Amino acid sequence: MPTKDAILTQLSKVIYPNFNKSIIDFNFLQSLDISKEQITITLDIPSSSNEIAKQIHTEIESRLKFLDVKSLKINIIQPQVPMPTSSQGKNVLPNIQNFLMVSSGKGGVGKSTTAVNLAIALAQQGKRVGLLDVDIYGPNIPRMMGIADKQPLFLGKNIKPIMAYGVQVMSIGLLVQRGSSLIWKGAMVTQAIEQMLEDILWDKLDILLFDMPPGTGDAQLSLAQSLPVSAGIAVTTPQKVALDDTIRSMDMFKELNVPIAGLIENMSGFICPESGKEYNIFGKNTTEPLAKNYQTQVLGTIPIDPTLREGGDSGLPITVLAPHCDISQAYRTIATKIWNRLEEIHQEGGVDNQKIQPTIF
Ligand code: ADP
Repeated sequence: MPTKDAILTQLSKVIYPNFNKSIIDFNFLQSLDISKEQITITLDIPSSSNEIAKQIHTEIESRLKFLDVKSLKINIIQPQVPMPTSSQGKNVLPNIQNFLMVSSGKGGVGKSTTAVNLAIALAQQGKRVGLLDVDIYGPNIPRMMGIADKQPLFLGKNIKPIMAYGVQVMSIGLLVQRGSSLIWKGAMVTQAIEQMLEDILWDKLDILLFDMPPGTGDAQLSLAQSLPVSAGIAVTTPQKVALDDTIRSMDMFKELNVPIAGLIENMSGFICPESGKEYNIFGKNTTEPLAKNYQTQVLGTIPIDPTLREGGDSGLPITVLAPHCDISQAYRTIATKIWNRLEEIHQEGGVDNQKIQPTIF
């Protein structure tokens, strides 16, 4: 029989599908029992996909084949993913269960950073996730997801999303000519969004996140008219001017009949790494009263942290670079709260976008 160390060495070479870390680095090994006759490996993975479990199973078998293993038993524990389907009205993407609008009242508050890390957190929790960057004024998702140099694959007029960190990604930034400065007029925005929704070949997804342009406008309206948007979240910094603009985002959700899942307070305080002292550069905990006003919740607060900025610039988001740090954990907690809220929304009857369809005179 091989030693425990020999088995662990082999297991540490088994890469978790769609990521670049092993099942050991991700801490998925729950137990390893070696008896005279049998080796039993139990893993607890965050993905509910049978395909992922099968890939891991095959990879372990092939790695242990070279050790003298008489009998091998592999147990893979997986979460159950509920499949809510209650929304009605116009839906141009029926193979996707949930649509989440990630909005902000103004630019630069960390909306794209939040969208990226939440998408990865949801994928780490076993959901099949897509991320569509419709931020026409600053499509940063390709850089943040490390795919800025990738060319999307065109199949006729259709486009395949690019897989990055377990998330299917597409961005308007990969589709319009790089460096071209487009002036987006209202009708163009609507047309671009409708065309992206039509042309991108998403797999069956549990959730598709939209990184929206900041503010409230044509993009939000055409999206809500094309899909029963399951929920919206607003990202804000704690300062007054950002909160004032966030009010407009919340009013927009109400006007578009998009259920509000909550607010995220980003850049909430800064802890000096040298002194450990906290500085509230933009303020802190100011979002709660706004959430109350709209009968919703603050899903979480994320501090200012250089790793977040560096991760965005280098294409290695913090949830991938340091999946066990406090901030990555905070993103996963927010992801869980959003998923719970989505379940609630579906239990309450889901979303119907009939009322906001364009009126033809
Ligand atoms: P938005 O999408 O709202 O325009 P971004 O997500 O592009 O904002 O963020 C703007 C800049 O701030 C980016 O350089 C990003 O890396 C950085 N950033 C966002 N959130 C944080 C944070 N909590 N700590 C440090 N830098 C952050």
